[in-house]
Parts: sequence; C-alpha cells; structure tokens
Amino acid sequence: MTATRTFAIVTGAGQGIGKAIALRLARDGFDICVNDLEINSGTVKNVVEEIQALGQKAVSAYGDVSKLPQVEAIVESSVNQLGPLDVMVANAGIAHVQWAMDAKEPDLQRLFEVNFYGVVYSDQVAARQFIKQGSGGKIINAASVVSFRPFAMIPIYSATKAAVRSLTQSLATELAKHKITVNAYAPGVVDSSMWETIDRGMSEINGLPKGENFQKTKSEITLGRTSVPEDVAKMVSFLASSDSDYVTGQTMLVDGGIAFS
Ligand code: NAD
Repeated sequence: MTATRTFAIVTGAGQGIGKAIALRLARDGFDICVNDLEINSGTVKNVVEEIQALGQKAVSAYGDVSKLPQVEAIVESSVNQLGPLDVMVANAGIAHVQWAMDAKEPDLQRLFEVNFYGVVYSDQVAARQFIKQGSGGKIINAASVVSFRPFAMIPIYSATKAAVRSLTQSLATELAKHKITVNAYAPGVVDSSMWETIDRGMSEINGLPKGENFQKTKSEITLGRTSVPEDVAKMVSFLASSDSDYVTGQTMLVDGGIAFS
C-alpha cells in the first residue's frame, strides 16, 4: 500500500492555473506552500486564506524560481513549517509573443530562465529533499501543448516548453531509483492572465481586435471550447495522487484535442 501524500509546493500559485492546482490539491487533502513573486503578495495571501478555509494548512513562500538560492529557501522554509515534502508542482511560467527571427538575447534569457531553469531548479531541490527523506516523491512540471506542436508567434516560449517535456523524461529515468516519479501537464488554451498577454501580443502583430486571437483558437480545439484552470488542476490532482504511481516520464495533454487536430 502506498503512503498517503500530504504536503505539496505549487510555484506561481498566486493566480491562474497554479492557484487552481493549489486549491484542488487542498481539496484532495494536501497542505500547501503557495509560492509566487513577492510583488503578488496580495493574491498569494488570498490563496493561503482560501486553502485554510478548506481546513488544510497553508503557508506562503515568496521567491523567483529562476534563482536557485531562492528555490532552496522556498523548500527549506516550507518544510520547516509543514513537514516532509511529498509533491513539487513546478508551475511558474511566463510568455512572450515574438517571432523567432526577432528574438534578442535578453528575450531568450528571461523565457528560458523562468520556464526552464525555474523548472530545473524546482525539480533538483525537491528531488534532493525527497532523497534526504528517503520515501520517494512526485515532481509535476508545467509543460504545454506547444511542447508537442509550437504555436505561431510564440516560438521561443514553445521551445522552453519542449525543453520541459524532454527534461521530464530525463529526470524520470534519473530519479526512478529513489522512488521519485516525474511527470508534466500540457494545457492547451487556458483562460488566464497569461493568455491575455499572449492575445495582446498577437494583436500587435496581426492587428486582430482584443480577444480575437484567443477566440480564434476554438476552431482548432476538438472539444470546441477553450479551457479553464480547473480543467488542468484535475490532471494535476491525478498526477499528485497514488493513482498515478505507475506513471512516470509522461507529459499529459489537457488540451481539448488541439495537439493533433
Ligand atoms: P499566469 O501568468 O496566470 O500565472 C503565472 C504565475 O507565475 C503568476 O502568478 C506569476 O507571478 C508567477 N511567476 C512568474 N514568474 C515567476 C517566477 N520567476 N517565480 C515565481 N513565480 C513566477 O499563467 P498561467 O496561465 O496560470 O500559467 C501557469 C503555467 O501553465 C505556466 O508555466 C504556463 O506556461 C503554463 N501554461 C499555460 C497555458 C495557458 O493557456 N494559460 C497553456 C499551457 C501552459
């Protein structure tokens, strides 16, 4: 019988998909460390209170996941408060609309620093903690439908997410001997402030009115609707539970059927 897992860290959990994951895992019985940038402390405090109202413990841990010492501090402080770590959800990410031909070094650097280095550091620090504890653990990374099929106008973002998919497979192999599983979730088009940013950036390039680039994606979605953060949280709930104990190295699409439409 598998031990019940009870404590999860969710990075970038002040809003959007991360918030939905934090609340869903709290409903599943997890205590939660809510990470985000300190600039979002207002929204983080609200998420912490919502989790506490559900009857679970919750703490905040501010920090930039693209900086290894900050990730170490997030894990250390939350473990001190909530006990042994069971699940790391490396969710934090940023998007930037720009053709690959226009990308300059700072653009490449920031996207890879947050979306890829941030996931590498979150996974490394969590895995070290799991190995120290000696009872395995679950790592769950934010990939995307664009890990499988890049979208126009977000090519570098797409490349960061393809890198996350590859890393997920590599780490699954590397960490299996420690009873650590490593999987990823790959959302499609989710109604969140990230897509507001993407929609705005695409409008600047193709001149479509505000909201139109987001709406236009529906024609490519097999299920005929864009998604909400809770759609993604359901998959993460599975990946965090013992029901997924025999699943590792996978990037699970939750895209309503865009990837191969
Ligand atoms: P969002 O912009 O609504 O939320 C992202 C959160 O991450 C924000 O609260 C932000 O402050 C935080 N964050 C950003 N940089 C950070 C850093 N360096 N350290 C710590 N926190 C940081 O985005 P979202 O739509 O909720 O996306 C969540 C994840 O899902 C991202 O990795 C994103 O790439 C991925 N994703 C989103 C979609 C979508 O359609 N929205 C689709 C596929 C994948």
